[in-house]
Amino acid sequence: MTLTAQARGTIAELKESVARLHSELTRNELVVWTSGNVSARVPGEDLMVIKPSGVSYDDLTPDTMVVTDLHGKLVHGELAPSSDTAAHAYVYRHLPEVGGVVHTHSTYATAWAARGEPIPCVLTMIADEFGGEIPVGPFALIGDDSIGRGIVETLRATRSPAVLMRNHGPFTVGATARDAVKAAVMVEDVARTVHIAHQLGTPVPLSGSDVDRLHARYQNVYGQR
Ligand SMILES: [Zn+2]
Repeated sequence: MTLTAQARGTIAELKESVARLHSELTRNELVVWTSGNVSARVPGEDLMVIKPSGVSYDDLTPDTMVVTDLHGKLVHGELAPSSDTAAHAYVYRHLPEVGGVVHTHSTYATAWAARGEPIPCVLTMIADEFGGEIPVGPFALIGDDSIGRGIVETLRATRSPAVLMRNHGPFTVGATARDAVKAAVMVEDVARTVHIAHQLGTPVPLSGSDVDRLHARYQNVYGQR
């Protein structure tokens, strides 16, 4: 495949940022061993940058990142792409607004996935970031498009950038890989807090209108402009 100089430059920048974002997964204790992965879409190309399969987090550098097409076929790189590449690729093919995808087995979010239970919208930060409950996606085996299809179908029915794939764990999306990493950190944080709240009683749900107002404000007004 021949790429323009501009595309090559974009890929070099994305390899660096995707490699660096993997250190957020370890820093926030979202992953053990080599599980978990971050990818980024290459804007303007049918390509993505993703973690190689089975490489220790300490050994991840920009040069070890791999580039695949949006069917998961290796385009550039020395190493085999992550075993979750097909799921990431399916998301990019079907959700054009998504520029980054993250998958982890972070403990508390995965505990909700193990029960097949959505995380209810009982905190302002859940309304802010997720716009409602964090949904559960179907059980799906690795090997074909089942995981990707389950992620896309579940996310299309919600405002949430996170889905808890049943008996598996969270997948998160964002406009950029950094946004998807943020959602992965936030889903684990709220999964833990709501789990703890459950220990002593029943968390109080937010009203739908409050959820809508919080979500709109956070998505449009919050932060530096
Ligand atoms: Zn997994």
